Amino acid sequence: MDYVIEPQPLPSVAVKGTDSRFPVRRIFCVGRNYAEHTREMGGDPDREPPFFFTKPADAVVPSESTILFPKATKDLHHEMELVVAIGKKADEISADQANEHIFGYAAGIDLTRRDLQQIAKDKRRPWDSGKAFDQSAPCGMITPATNVPEIGNALIWLAVNGETRQSASIADLIWSVSEVVAFLSQEFILMSGDLIFTGTPAGVGPLVSGDKVTGHIDGLESIEISLL
Ligand code: MN
Repeated sequence: MDYVIEPQPLPSVAVKGTDSRFPVRRIFCVGRNYAEHTREMGGDPDREPPFFFTKPADAVVPSESTILFPKATKDLHHEMELVVAIGKKADEISADQANEHIFGYAAGIDLTRRDLQQIAKDKRRPWDSGKAFDQSAPCGMITPATNVPEIGNALIWLAVNGETRQSASIADLIWSVSEVVAFLSQEFILMSGDLIFTGTPAGVGPLVSGDKVTGHIDGLESIEISLL
């Protein structure tokens, strides 16, 4: 194939146990999927249906990256999240079919320019400026689902400079992984290569230049980033 300009490389994520990589097609994110975080953001965790936003595929950055402090914000926040990697097309599936479509899991951070997100909320504008910026989706190595016996009760935590900021259980998800995949597949035809950031527990907060951020989910590889 010839292109009139040089195409950008396909974004991808490392996979545990192999040199082959997971090619990223799209990044979906769930808003407000833990009750305590919903309350800290001023919402009501009443189990209304999940809602979704997206980030560009090339927002992924690997673990152990040093990333540039994002431009245009004075309030960058960390949101530690379980990431689901879709391995097979999912179109209007039910929750009990979801596992067949999941390739694996990873630990990720939904970096958020909270000040820009707040302006968008106040003015009823899209969230892209707050959420879909460059390097906004750090994602650790993907562990194939066959090697993850029990993700549903795993502990999830994030520390900044060694101090724990977020700590919860995947069991605290308002909408489970299977339910999120099923819901999303009613609105979009999910395809192999899609990543889903499943929402963050309470304890989100600001990051500053020089911070070292470590996130972990039991049974998965850690995500670690430093901010320039
Ligand atoms: Mn999030």
